[in-house]
Amino acid sequence: MWDYLLIGQGLAGALLAYLLRTDGHKVAVLDDAQPRGATRVAAGLINPVTGRHFVKSWRIDELLPFARSTYRALESELGVPLYHERTIIRALHSIEEENNWLGRCADPGYRAYISDEAGLGAYGDWIVPPHGFGAVKGGAQVEVGTLINKYREVLESEGCLFRESIDYTKLILTDDGVRYGNIQARQLVFCEGHWTRENPFFQSLPLIGDKGEIFIVRFPAGVQFDTILKHRVFIVPLADSSYWIGSNYDSRFESDAPTEQGRGWLEQNLRRTLTCPFEVLAHRAAIRPTVRDRRPLLGRHPQHAQLAIFNGLGAKGASLGPFWARHFADYLQEKTTLDPMVDIGRFSGWR
Ligand SMILES: Cc1cc2nc3c(=O)[nH]c(=O)nc-3n(C[C@H](O)[C@H](O)[C@H](O)COP(=O)(O)OP(=O)(O)OC[C@H]3O[C@@H](n4cnc5c(N)ncnc54)[C@H](O)[C@@H]3O)c2cc1C
Repeated sequence: MWDYLLIGQGLAGALLAYLLRTDGHKVAVLDDAQPRGATRVAAGLINPVTGRHFVKSWRIDELLPFARSTYRALESELGVPLYHERTIIRALHSIEEENNWLGRCADPGYRAYISDEAGLGAYGDWIVPPHGFGAVKGGAQVEVGTLINKYREVLESEGCLFRESIDYTKLILTDDGVRYGNIQARQLVFCEGHWTRENPFFQSLPLIGDKGEIFIVRFPAGVQFDTILKHRVFIVPLADSSYWIGSNYDSRFESDAPTEQGRGWLEQNLRRTLTCPFEVLAHRAAIRPTVRDRRPLLGRHPQHAQLAIFNGLGAKGASLGPFWARHFADYLQEKTTLDPMVDIGRFSGWR
């Protein structure tokens, strides 16, 4: 008998499995490794100050130290670098944006996160000049794809990973948990990202999904950047000298596949950012598991307590994941009650 059966091993499932196993539980994970899983396409940025009004991300003061310590612990366990502290150069496109930025620089609550002393570094030679620049400090780039791949190897080597899609019709709810084929567990947790919209137990939750398309590009010899730039698009240096370029937000998508429209958007915005040519090595797409109120989805099913959900990490899984996985692991072990802001009970019919 397993203590927990997790369905899905993107960032949400990987972090929850890691924390429950660290707490001493027997955890089985069933995952079909969809190539268009959000974690496989994401840049893994933690950006503490976002939007046109440069507002601190929700609860970032609590999330950031927690994310750092969790990813550092995972680095030790997996033996690979995962967490890189990064400054993000932020282009300012108008006087209004510059004024908003300077206002934030004067706010003591933002001192740890922003600065008006931005050096452009190598971008100086290749950039379409915007109105001005600032620097977002205290952020990070998390190698979330590496994390889930490496953690998958650990689970597999210990016989805890089942490579398959769940067939919901074969899931049997029992008095002491669930049974799925030969797997029996006391508690099942769905961590299926946007595919939860196909899950008969949780599909009526308001998980909308927001599609994003990205490029992996190469620049010509002699053009090299070592800092993240947020101009019309994000430019994120990767370990192999290629760059992650993204991303748009599309909540009215028809499929999870890359589109010509997405390609056009990326090409146009990259040309409006840099003056050098680029070669597109890959064009990819995925759907962010975004919730109507932009908060995570945590909780047990109101009628079937042996079924639970950990989802809704939206566009900010790298920063939200560790903190809310810890909170949910504590809740599942009856060590705490759920924060009402993330409890699925906040939606009518889910209490
Ligand atoms: C283009 C793009 C850019 C992004 N950039 C960032 C960023 O810079 N910073 C950031 O913090 N966040 C970013 N995100 C968001 C981030 O990727 C997500 O918040 C996070 O990865 C969600 O993780 P998840 O585990 O919930 O979902 P997923 O990563 O989608 O994982 C779900 C897993 O469940 C499996 N699965 C689903 N259904 C089943 C089933 N029925 N049976 C078996 N297995 C199943 C899938 O195969 C998959 O492995 C980005 C997202 C996108 C799309």
